Amino acid sequence: MMNYDRILIRYGEMSLKGRNRKHFVTKLKKNIKFILQDFTKIKIEADWDRMYVLLNGEEAELVMTALKKVFGIQSFSPAIKTEKDIDAIRSAALHIIDQAHIPGNTFKVSARRSDKKFEYNSNALNHAVGAHILINTEDIRVDVKKPDINLIVEVREEAAYISGQVIQGAGGFPVGSSGKAMLMLSGGIDSPVAGYLTMKRGVNVEAVHFHSPPFTSERAKQKVLDLAEKLGQYSGSVKVHIVPFTAIQETIHKEIPEAYSMTATRRMMLRITDEIRKSREGLAIVTGESLGQVASQTMDSMYAINDVTSTPIIRPLITMDKLDIIKIAEDIDTMEISNRPYEDCCTIFTPPAPKTRPKLDKIIMFESKFDWTSLLNEAVDQTETVMVSCRNKKGSEEDLF
Ligand code: ATP
Ligand code: MG
Repeated sequence: MMNYDRILIRYGEMSLKGRNRKHFVTKLKKNIKFILQDFTKIKIEADWDRMYVLLNGEEAELVMTALKKVFGIQSFSPAIKTEKDIDAIRSAALHIIDQAHIPGNTFKVSARRSDKKFEYNSNALNHAVGAHILINTEDIRVDVKKPDINLIVEVREEAAYISGQVIQGAGGFPVGSSGKAMLMLSGGIDSPVAGYLTMKRGVNVEAVHFHSPPFTSERAKQKVLDLAEKLGQYSGSVKVHIVPFTAIQETIHKEIPEAYSMTATRRMMLRITDEIRKSREGLAIVTGESLGQVASQTMDSMYAINDVTSTPIIRPLITMDKLDIIKIAEDIDTMEISNRPYEDCCTIFTPPAPKTRPKLDKIIMFESKFDWTSLLNEAVDQTETVMVSCRNKKGSEEDLF
């Protein structure tokens, strides 16, 4: 068993932001605490430029798996803390090599000394530790270019830390550090990816989904909740606002010329999302739109749809190719869910030939012939909110952000 006693966490990008740093560190600590709440023995120590998860007997591997999904972490390393004493450092280093080493492996020592008063400089440390390992380990060689094991030795003011690996974190900013936005979440491939990328920038995302029973099934709704659950892995939980959209779609079908029904549908969705955003105190709307992908995503369409609000609309995928989007969907494990066959509300009502170049004055004219206000208000009033938690444990539905 590897007796690492802590996980050392590096912040990366967020440490560049001097002014907001304290806020970010506090947020990150809170998020890590939340994600690791099942590990009851751990303690978290936050520094200006580092964080330490003290394991107190919890298993390093499990804790690290959970940490991989926390935004705001650049990288982390399981580490052993020792006194700033060369013998203590050497024996901790040897211990790590003993655990990790397979005969024939290569290694190197990467020492850093931020405590300049420590008697060994980094070069001398590399040699002192490296020699100790070579003498006491069978069948191991040094390879400074591509070692199997990169042994990291850091001598800091308060102590020395020794680690055998650096694991890449999720990057980005801690969720919740950049405010709140409403994600228009369909059951498709794109919008969950858009949500993920926005969360990665530190935004706390709540989902809005338009549901048109009986034209769309319970399974279509469940699909969206399952997608939200995947996103919840990055934040602990995600709220999903489910908007009953049938009456509006039927009315559009009746009142708006077919070529403009798609444009009208999108405008209604955006208006409703914006209303929900106001009541939830969000500052932006996120969509999975990607330029040119479908009729609703031409420049003309976006111009005509976007007209209903001046709220910032975040479109993380706008310039991305489908294959790149799919790659992310696979990485975050949403692809399989998105591929389930259930129809969503738009597919069902989409006319065979929606206008790819709708005109703003025309859609305004068509909409003006009918009073939509009560229908919109009704949809907002009847919206059902579900909290989707990535953890199925009872009593974990605490609102983190
Ligand atoms: P996606 O893969 O996200 O469904 P798409 O390529 O199918 O996107 P559209 O159907 O034109 O494209 O939808 C564009 C965007 O509108 C979606 O990415 C999503 O943000 C939003 N949207 C579409 N349908 C719904 C819905 N039923 N509920 C909520 N938002 C939706
Ligand atoms: Mg879609």
